[in-house]
Amino acid sequence: MSGVDDLLDSDSAVYRTLLESTLAIPWKIDWATMKFAYIGPQIEPLLGWERDSWISADDWVARIHADDREHVVNFCISQSKAGVDHEADYRALTRDNGYVWIRDVVHVVRDDKGEVEALVGFMFDISERKKTEARLLSLQKELEALSFKDGLTGAANRRMFDARLDQEWKNAARSGQPLSVILLDIDYFKQYNDFYGHIRADERLTQVAQTLMLATGRPGDLVARFGGEEFVLLLPETGAATAREIAERCQRMIGNMGIPHEKSPISPSLTVSMGVGTATPLAQTDAMDFMHSVDQLLYAAKQNGRNRIEAMP
Ligand code: GH3
Ligand code: MG
Ligand code: MG
Repeated sequence: MSGVDDLLDSDSAVYRTLLESTLAIPWKIDWATMKFAYIGPQIEPLLGWERDSWISADDWVARIHADDREHVVNFCISQSKAGVDHEADYRALTRDNGYVWIRDVVHVVRDDKGEVEALVGFMFDISERKKTEARLLSLQKELEALSFKDGLTGAANRRMFDARLDQEWKNAARSGQPLSVILLDIDYFKQYNDFYGHIRADERLTQVAQTLMLATGRPGDLVARFGGEEFVLLLPETGAATAREIAERCQRMIGNMGIPHEKSPISPSLTVSMGVGTATPLAQTDAMDFMHSVDQLLYAAKQNGRNRIEAMP
């Protein structure tokens, strides 16, 4: 008899040692009372809360980050009631007002009749994993930004423009709001290259891009390099009158830069031509058709003498 007791005692001592020396924190909650029957002593060095301050499930709930609390608690309760083993990631609050990312892996213990008797689980400190995830996410964002940016001018690239046009076209179709696009081409830039050289010409492209970015103020506006020495301005929720004003502002600001262009037949300084289009996209109209008609307007601006703006009637 005592032999069996000894065996049990020595066994549970072994289990206890195992449980309390692992990095994961074991715990048990009695389902009927919702009280902690056990929590590993490792909880204190990790979160700072004393071991015997974990009395009921309410203490666990209170020590979950407010932004995670509701969905984690609802999820764990519904899974436990359904008798389903589950796991949840959340930020556990530390005693010194910080938090630690925890993965809680929960097993539902049932009695002979199949009723839920207790929840047992392990809390794993997953802070390092979360930090790595966050680092990866920010690297990914950086990479995305790089590949959406034109390397020379710092404006958005064509890829970005195409993606944003698609998105804003759908938004406008949904909201019924107008959407405007300004297509802009530098006048006689071939002559500029030939006379001032490619490197100087490249610098001018960057300056023009920066000026265009200054000329558009709203957070949703996009300035992109459309190709060679052509730029495009995407102006969501912008009607024809405002788009025209913005085009005039661009023309004025580029004129004010006073970049000498000796070989331009029309002006002593660098000028641009623009086509301005405004659409109120309906589901059945096509963004490509719209861009084509804005391109026609730019062409008309060139035909009609350059350094001018042509807008939709
Ligand atoms: P217009 O405005 O009337 O169309 O005359 P243009 O000289 O601009 O003629 P076109 O648009 O056909 O040619 C554009 C020229 O712009 C060709 C090239 O010399 C120059 N260009 C295009 N892309 C770049 C670029 O990335 N860097 C430099 N330096 N020049 C470029
Ligand atoms: Mg061109
Ligand atoms: Mg040109």
